[in-house]
Amino acid sequence: MSISVENLRRTFGTFQALRGITLEIPDHQLVALLGPSGSGKTTLLRIIGGLDFPDAGQGRVLIHGEDVTNQPAASRRAGFVFQHYALFNHLTVFENVAFGLEVRPAATRPKPEVIRDRVLELLGLVQLDGLQQRLPSELSGGQRQRVALARALAIDPMVLLLDEPFGALDARVRKDLRRWLRSFHTELGVTTIFVTHDQQEALELADTVVVMNQGQIEQIGSPQQVYDHPASPFVYEFLGDVNRVRKPGRPDLFYVRPHEVRVLFAGDSTAELHAKVEHLFAAGPSARLTLRMLDSKETLDADMTRQQLDEMGLSEGDEVGLKLVLGNRA
Ligand code: ATP
Repeated sequence: MSISVENLRRTFGTFQALRGITLEIPDHQLVALLGPSGSGKTTLLRIIGGLDFPDAGQGRVLIHGEDVTNQPAASRRAGFVFQHYALFNHLTVFENVAFGLEVRPAATRPKPEVIRDRVLELLGLVQLDGLQQRLPSELSGGQRQRVALARALAIDPMVLLLDEPFGALDARVRKDLRRWLRSFHTELGVTTIFVTHDQQEALELADTVVVMNQGQIEQIGSPQQVYDHPASPFVYEFLGDVNRVRKPGRPDLFYVRPHEVRVLFAGDSTAELHAKVEHLFAAGPSARLTLRMLDSKETLDADMTRQQLDEMGLSEGDEVGLKLVLGNRA
């Protein structure tokens, strides 16, 4: 289902948490709401799901073209997954997933055998076959999060809303679940919005990244667009490592990512800047250099391949020339 948000505003007391949000999400998309703490991501997600509402008359939410702004959560058929799994600890995995169907009024509640088949199918989908009789306390964090997803899917949601779904998990499990969620989304195709403050997670997972700051949208685009063509200094700094460089004799400041700094021999006539290698870190096929500029004394990070590093035979304390390669963006 497509989702449209039109000029949404939400105020808490005198604080403006959302300051005019407009967003179009086509059907089947996997969208990341990315931004620092307090930027309004969760508030926006909650309003889309019907757990919160905009200020009176201040904006609309449409799901598949229908204005649902004033409808309660139950009628929107949104599946939610939150950071802290919020599973029912006294219920088994099976009962947790079945919950949303069991609580339906008798008239719309599926027959027990239909619920059973649906739950087992979902547990297969999230790769938890055979664990239906366990309690949440008998599962790993990643498994619990997948139960939460299966439970959200049980109601056959029109949209899936995930708030920092992997936030409470360790880095390794997060990575596995990320990959899994991507292929799972491809298979299912439910329009999905997830909140994250982790730029790597947003860039790796999403079709579209919505970068938020102070209750407003800074930029909407594909991961490639927001990373390679940031619309504002905020987006530039928020998405990945960046250096701020002043070129000699020029007042303007350049934003340069470490991979856009070319390291040359000190005597290279094409060098635009000169620096000293302050720190060297090489791991796997790539290397990160921390450089101290000879004139301004500012530091700058540069990335190069391990092979380039070995070929140049650089070590800490060496002087180098630098060239900024900004060709791949506007
Ligand atoms: P985080 O990554 O920390 O969860 P977020 O981007 O999701 O942040 P929100 O939770 O949407 O941010 O909150 C946006 C702002 O609105 C914050 O400054 C928060 O303190 C404020 N806020 C959110 N909910 C309420 C509330 N119920 N009452 C008062 N202020 C609120």
